[in-house]
Amino acid sequence: MTSVSEIEIIDALKLKTFDNHYKNIIQGIGDDGAITSIDADYHLVTTTDAISEGVHYPKGIEAKAIGHRCLAVNLSDMAAMGAEPLWASLVFSKPSIDQLWLEQFILGFSELANKHKVSLIGGDTISGPELFSVTLQGIVPKNKHIRRSTAKIGDLVYVTGFLGNASQGLKIVQEDKKNSSSKKLVQDFLYPHPRLTESSAISRFASSMIDISDGFYSDLKKVMKASNVGAEIKISDLPISELLLNNIPKEDAINAALFGGDDYELCFTIPREFKKDFLEDYQSTDRIGITCVGEIKEKNLLLLDDHNEEFELSGRAFEHF
Ligand code: ADP
Ligand code: MG
Repeated sequence: MTSVSEIEIIDALKLKTFDNHYKNIIQGIGDDGAITSIDADYHLVTTTDAISEGVHYPKGIEAKAIGHRCLAVNLSDMAAMGAEPLWASLVFSKPSIDQLWLEQFILGFSELANKHKVSLIGGDTISGPELFSVTLQGIVPKNKHIRRSTAKIGDLVYVTGFLGNASQGLKIVQEDKKNSSSKKLVQDFLYPHPRLTESSAISRFASSMIDISDGFYSDLKKVMKASNVGAEIKISDLPISELLLNNIPKEDAINAALFGGDDYELCFTIPREFKKDFLEDYQSTDRIGITCVGEIKEKNLLLLDDHNEEFELSGRAFEHF
C-alpha cells in the first residue's frame, strides 16, 4: 500500500480525471484563490455540506461512494434552490491515503462532477480525521430561486422518485446483510442521484422546494415552519418502491419512507392553478417520476390513511404542532 502526499493528491484531483468545463473560470486550482465571474442577470448560490465517517456514512464503505457522496449532497441542495451548479471546492481530510483509495474517491467525485458539468476550482488537503467538505457555487437567473419558506395554503405537495430505499440500504450495510435482492437498495444509499434535471423543470412552477436529506417527515416540517403553514399527507400516496416492499414489511416501509434519511429526493409545492401546465411540462423520459402526496394546509402536519382518517403508526409517537 503506497501512501500519497498532499501535492500528489492535489495534482490527482486537478489533472487526472476532470474535464474542465471552464465556465467563467478565470483562475482555477493552483493559486492562493480561485477567480470566477457571473453574468449580471444571475445570482450566485452557495451551499456547503460536509460528510464524515461514522456520522454520515459507515466506516469501510467504498471510496468511490464517498467521493460521489460529498458532491452529491451539495448538488442536491443546489437542485433544491432551483440553481445550476458550476464550481466546487473540496476540503479533503484523511489520516492516510493509499493510491487505490484516492483513485476510487476521485472517480466517484469526478464522474458526478462531469455529469453535471461542475469544475473543481480549489480546496484544502489535510492529514486529519476522515471528513470531506464541499462548497458548491452555482447560478440562478435573478429572483428565480426557490425557497423553502414560500409554500402557500392550498398548494399541492409533491416528491420526486421513491422514499425510504436509502435508509433501508444503509441498514443493510450496517447489518452486513447485503445479498443479490437487496443490492439495489444499498446502491440507492451509496450513490444518491441529485435531482438537477428534475429541478430545472420543477422550478418553473414550484412555490417552494427542499431536498429530502433527513427524511420526508422532518424535511417537510422544515418547509412548514419556514412557510408558517401546515400540511395533510396521504400515507397511501407515498411513493414506496416494490423493491423496498419486497425487502421489509409494509409498515416498516412506510416508516422508512416517512422518517428514513439519505433519499436526496426533492419535496416541492405546486400552486393548484399551475398543476396542469406543470405536469404537461414535466413529462420527459429522462426525468424521474413525481408523486403528489398531499396538500398544504393552514396548520399542523396530519398524516391520513386510506379512509382519510388520522394515520396511526404503531411504535412511534407523533409530535403534533
Ligand atoms: P495555499 O497554501 O495557498 O492555501 P495549497 O498548497 O493548500 O495552497 O493549495 C494549492 C492549490 O491547490 C490551491 O489552488 C488550492 O485551492 C488547491 N487545492 C488544495 N487542496 C485541494 C483539494 N482537496 N481539492 C481541490 N483543490 C485543492
Ligand atoms: Mg495561499
